[in-house]
Amino acid sequence: MNALILKDAVIRYDRLTAVDGVSLELRRGETLGLVGESGCGKSSVARAIVGLQPLAAGTLTIEGETLQDAPARRRTDLQRRIQLLFQDPAASLSPRMTVRSLLAEPLKIQKSHSPEAWTRIVALAESIGLGQQLLSRYPHQLSGGQARRVALVRALAAEPSIIVADEPTAGLDISIQGELLNLLRTLRGRLGLSYLLISHNLNVVGRVTDRVAVMYLGQIVESGPTADLFRNSAHPYTRALLSANLTLDAGRRRERIVLSGELPSPSNPPSGCRFHKRCPLAQPRCTREIPVLQGRPGERSFACHFPLRSEPAPAPQAIAG
Ligand code: SF4
Repeated sequence: MNALILKDAVIRYDRLTAVDGVSLELRRGETLGLVGESGCGKSSVARAIVGLQPLAAGTLTIEGETLQDAPARRRTDLQRRIQLLFQDPAASLSPRMTVRSLLAEPLKIQKSHSPEAWTRIVALAESIGLGQQLLSRYPHQLSGGQARRVALVRALAAEPSIIVADEPTAGLDISIQGELLNLLRTLRGRLGLSYLLISHNLNVVGRVTDRVAVMYLGQIVESGPTADLFRNSAHPYTRALLSANLTLDAGRRRERIVLSGELPSPSNPPSGCRFHKRCPLAQPRCTREIPVLQGRPGERSFACHFPLRSEPAPAPQAIAG
């Protein structure tokens, strides 16, 4: 069974459609990466999955139960199975609370503050390097890595089965990044977690995810097993993201695509393929016809009229406008 299925999700802010028909499957025990430029809608997807943003259309199914069909109380229980690891833990931790209070807070909110629950939390904190001597400290007295760990224990207090991690390593030194990623991997196995990892850092995504979905301007443009997609990306946007990441690309002799221009506004997306104004391989057809996702859902799929992998793209032609 899948841990989570998001189907045909639409997310709107007033009249702006930030996410338009996104579908994702997160399998039990896996780490799925969701990547794309800033503003592509990936954080909106994360917020919708953890219940902070309503879906204007589409469904969210958690461990086989569709949220939209469940009674209100059951919905709350299901939603608790998913916890968000915030992008900026310092902002999510109250500066006036000690680590002890911060770790106890989720138990109070869930009305599960028993001595046994507190013992479990302290043991969990200790097991990931937050010793008892840190309990009396305030957030400003913690290192970036320690603050991330406090946020992680708070998220795990609800005993979730799914963690949505939004840029979990942003702002951390490389060595601390590595420690945190190893910790996430260890906890996944130990606690039977599944992760949705949101990131624009393809080095991180390449290291820790099993599968990856690429978002552009509110839509999924390519997805597949990480190693395969990184080796043989079919969509020019994916190739451009990988090209921009020199560490991953090092030593690979393949066509590089340099991304130019800004991400268009989702309030006025380009006609046809939303990427056509920035795509060096765009053809006149791309301005007219919306490419549909081809391939097997959950396996390799891409939305492009002229995919890079299956056939050489035709020579670019000038596009009016
Ligand atoms: Fe580029 Fe056309 Fe493919 Fe869009 S459909 S990514 S414009 S080649």
